[in-house]
Amino acid sequence: MTLAERLDGDRFWADLLVQAQIGALEPRGLRRLALDDNDNRARLWLIEQGKALGCRAFHDAMGNVYLRREGSAPNLAPLLIGSHLDSQPSAGSYDGTLGVVAGLAVLRTLQERGIEHERPVEVVAWTNEEGARFAPGASGSSWFAGQRGAEAILETRDDDGIRFGDALKRCLALLEETEGTTFRPEPYVPHAFLELHIEQGLALESLGVPVCAVSGIQGVNWYDVEVHGQANHAGTTPETARRDAFMGAHALIGALKAAVAQHDDQVRFTIGKFTVAPGSTNTIPQRASFTIDLRHPSQAVLDELDAAFHELAEHQWSGCGASLKVASRVAPVDFDPALVEIVDNGAKHYCPSAPRLVSGAFHDAIHLARVCPTAMLFTPCREGISHHPDEHIERNDAEIAVRALASAVENVLLKGERK
Ligand SMILES: [Zn+2]
Repeated sequence: MTLAERLDGDRFWADLLVQAQIGALEPRGLRRLALDDNDNRARLWLIEQGKALGCRAFHDAMGNVYLRREGSAPNLAPLLIGSHLDSQPSAGSYDGTLGVVAGLAVLRTLQERGIEHERPVEVVAWTNEEGARFAPGASGSSWFAGQRGAEAILETRDDDGIRFGDALKRCLALLEETEGTTFRPEPYVPHAFLELHIEQGLALESLGVPVCAVSGIQGVNWYDVEVHGQANHAGTTPETARRDAFMGAHALIGALKAAVAQHDDQVRFTIGKFTVAPGSTNTIPQRASFTIDLRHPSQAVLDELDAAFHELAEHQWSGCGASLKVASRVAPVDFDPALVEIVDNGAKHYCPSAPRLVSGAFHDAIHLARVCPTAMLFTPCREGISHHPDEHIERNDAEIAVRALASAVENVLLKGERK
């Protein structure tokens, strides 16, 4: 019997439902902001499962948690499987969690069935993938992969002014006093990284496909934009004397959108946060601030738009000056072709018509791909809805997807042993 066939689908689904209760919202969905109490409880749950299985647990300086099953050659670099446990403020139950629980299901199968392998296998839950509380996201994985220094991450603050570093200190203290997990100060270079995730798009559902391989992730640029006007009385200031920061931002956004429209329909341009100050009904806004999330699979297109955005920000907009700062840049990535092939074979075993997709959302895998062979699998979510309590996956699809993951894991482990 293969590893995939031995995997206990009922247990996998039960684990997923239990995890989804940590930080659950009524009547559905969940809220587990990075490093909040629920997010920390989710970590402890994972460690608890590892302990019960007889696997060792580790945590590192970013609060990433790892469960390890030793191989007969413990010096070999581990095969790493996982995703994240943190969520958006009003989220569904599967984004991230599915990938961690799927990794746990594979680990469970290896351990409970006493399957022998040379290479160690680790399951990881990365800290703050979402970036909802501390932006930008993927803190744990970008640090692990050497893409971002700890200093910059620790100094980011949430909307209440709480430093990431202080929230992390609480989390690490909790992990320190938890029995059965050991601090591991330094990252390592894994043999490979695999991540199963919900698609958060419409392709798989429209094709009626339960699982597929992902061949890469499009790039993402984040910007913080400020438009500077002059606060004044809403009733007495004539049109000619107004320097209304909201109107300036409105005009600038129109120009940004027009620049985006000159490219193909793969560009994604989103203004997800917008505030005006001082924020009074009868005062002309002094300042308008907004964020931009810009995505495309091609670095060349991202670079062109980046230059266009900076140029536009130098103009005056309704009499207001503007400033545009890059908050983060993550280049597009193509996953390792050989590993994508293995994952694709796993998916096609269950669904011969499975396509290969490029991910529209970023994932921890984008950072891992810079240091080790990496690939992902997607399973559909209903109507593509995600980052919302209505996020929904079908149990059948998820079970097939976790078996496809197990099949890929088995192939990676066997490949190592046959060399
Ligand atoms: Zn996610």
